[in-house]
Amino acid sequence: MAEAGETARPAAPNGAAGVAQVSVAAVGVEVLRPAAPDGTARVVLLGRQGSGKGTQADRLSALYGVPHISTGDAFRDAIRNGSQLGRTAQGYVDRGELVPDEVVVGVLRERLFPAGSVGPGSTSGFILDGFPRNIPQAEALADLLAPDGLDVVVNLDVSTDEVLRRIAGRRVCVGCGASYNVVDNPPKAPGVCDACGGRLVQRDDDTEEAIRRRLEIYESVTAPLVDWYREQGVLATVDAAGSPDEVTTRAVAAIEAARQRKPVR
Ligand code: AMP
Repeated sequence: MAEAGETARPAAPNGAAGVAQVSVAAVGVEVLRPAAPDGTARVVLLGRQGSGKGTQADRLSALYGVPHISTGDAFRDAIRNGSQLGRTAQGYVDRGELVPDEVVVGVLRERLFPAGSVGPGSTSGFILDGFPRNIPQAEALADLLAPDGLDVVVNLDVSTDEVLRRIAGRRVCVGCGASYNVVDNPPKAPGVCDACGGRLVQRDDDTEEAIRRRLEIYESVTAPLVDWYREQGVLATVDAAGSPDEVTTRAVAAIEAARQRKPVR
């Protein structure tokens, strides 16, 4: 699955061949800044579809200098490229079903440990968006990260009514995958990506049927991760209602508090 390495999103401070980057300067001036944007934050974002995981992951990636790793973006890119991974994933993604665990764990492993890094335990920091989606995936992640584990799991908490409203306004860039919302987080020019000038479209899987299915799956197999991570003492629930800047500020506060509690690595 060589294609899985193509779309990890390097954070802006690391430069490199990134896509869908949000520069630190582009994040609102009012946003709380991390004390140590040193490329070592290890964060999972949990939350329903439409809770703002993609938007917040881009911003946190820029603020902390760590890659934004989105398994959903990896599948969408692979489908666009017509690769073997894309052909495997397409039916699941179109129906709003989960791609089988062994496939998605393989994609994640390649993102966490791209060619050149020396294998499990060697990754420094990341913002994970869309992984894990169930308890077996969370166990696989813990194995991949051992012995260090995660700094914090940020649970972006927002009501179902609000996520349905947000998904209706959601647009993504066909060029770089950056996400916008026509109401809450519009691009500077309608229909045009601020980052790369690409065309903005609705996601193919943002149909009513697929959204309903994805929300059902979230409640039945992903939501139990909230308690699972709470029991491990790494969960921070953040109110995800409000503007992207407000939510970023709350998320940074939660990450900072968790990192202060953790011993220095
Ligand atoms: P997302 O952009 O995170 O909403 O993901 C879009 C689609 O990609 C999902 O509806 C699934 O079909 C697939 N997908 C993404 N992440 C995972 C995952 N961790 N496990 C299984 N399927 C996934």
